[in-house]
Amino acid sequence: MNLIKHIKVLAACEPTDAPFISLYLNTRGSDSGNRQYEFAIQDRLSFFEKEFLNGGEWEKSFKKSWQKIEQYLNDNLELKSNGAVLFARSQPGNDFFLALQFPLPLENRFVVDRVPHVFPLVQFLENSHHYMVMISDSQKAKIFEIQFGGIKDIQQIEKAEEEKSFRGEWTRMHYQNWKKDQTKKFIKQKIKVLSELMQRNDVKHLVLAGDEVMLSRIKKELPKRLQGQVLDFARLGARTDEHQILRQTLEAFADFERIEDIDTLVSLRRELLTDGLGVMGTQATAEALNAGKIDELIVATEYEAPPGWRCDNCDFLVTGSAGEPCQYCGHRVLKPVNLKDELVRRTLVSGASVETIMYNVWFMRQGGVGALLRYK
Ligand SMILES: [Zn+2]
Repeated sequence: MNLIKHIKVLAACEPTDAPFISLYLNTRGSDSGNRQYEFAIQDRLSFFEKEFLNGGEWEKSFKKSWQKIEQYLNDNLELKSNGAVLFARSQPGNDFFLALQFPLPLENRFVVDRVPHVFPLVQFLENSHHYMVMISDSQKAKIFEIQFGGIKDIQQIEKAEEEKSFRGEWTRMHYQNWKKDQTKKFIKQKIKVLSELMQRNDVKHLVLAGDEVMLSRIKKELPKRLQGQVLDFARLGARTDEHQILRQTLEAFADFERIEDIDTLVSLRRELLTDGLGVMGTQATAEALNAGKIDELIVATEYEAPPGWRCDNCDFLVTGSAGEPCQYCGHRVLKPVNLKDELVRRTLVSGASVETIMYNVWFMRQGGVGALLRYK
């Protein structure tokens, strides 16, 4: 699944007068007779039903979208998925429907707005890595492809050995040399298969696992390109069960993610201190976005945006108090928007990237949102 492509399509949905439903679900343990997530969304559903019970176009559109969502959940939810995301808008000539399922659960969220609520999906993508794990010993290797917190594919390689029996004419030295040669050949074969799989499936990260001796041998034979993609060396035995592999390697990725977050914040701080290519805080970030300067938007998971508006005339994002005219063109018709969503959405549409940051005190104190810029 190409999640980035889906996110870009969602981000490009411009606001219309019809409600846009975004539904994130933890469907773990659900089956047709027992759907636990329903409890979580029931309150929100009755809230929306009361809210939109005016018989107007909005209500009609909401009900139509909801019908599609319910039907999808009834007919298409797979037992092996633990999370689902659904987006729907019903508007003549402008219908939208997208449903995705994942092995990882998502936090339940039910949002109705004029545009899709993409931030949790951006965050999910960033936290659900795509990587390979190769576990090997001297006789075999297993290669796991992991994506969205689940095992997507497993390949197994066995050592092909014409076991030559130890005969009298072979010296001990002969035998040991032959053994060594076989092992080296097998390691090369494993690396070749691994490298081809990674290239074919566009996988950029790798965890190598095995005992210490095997790991150091593999390290020696790894080509340069793969060396740069190794994220961790894990001491896992060849018989380690799949859950254990998932758990342990996902933890390694969580560490990697924290380091990446810190790297990003260090860059941002350096730019701020040197009055370079960085901005911090809602207003400065919105201004940089309006000017098309953002290279990377940085948003804390806990960031809560102040009220914000979209100018009906110049389409810029406007911060400040309600009732004030647009600070760019002076126009007085401003439509309320969720600034956090709108910053993320517009950054993605512009082709720049979004990085989400988890629990960083310094960053939250600075406003919880900022950006690295292309130019000043
Ligand atoms: Zn304006």
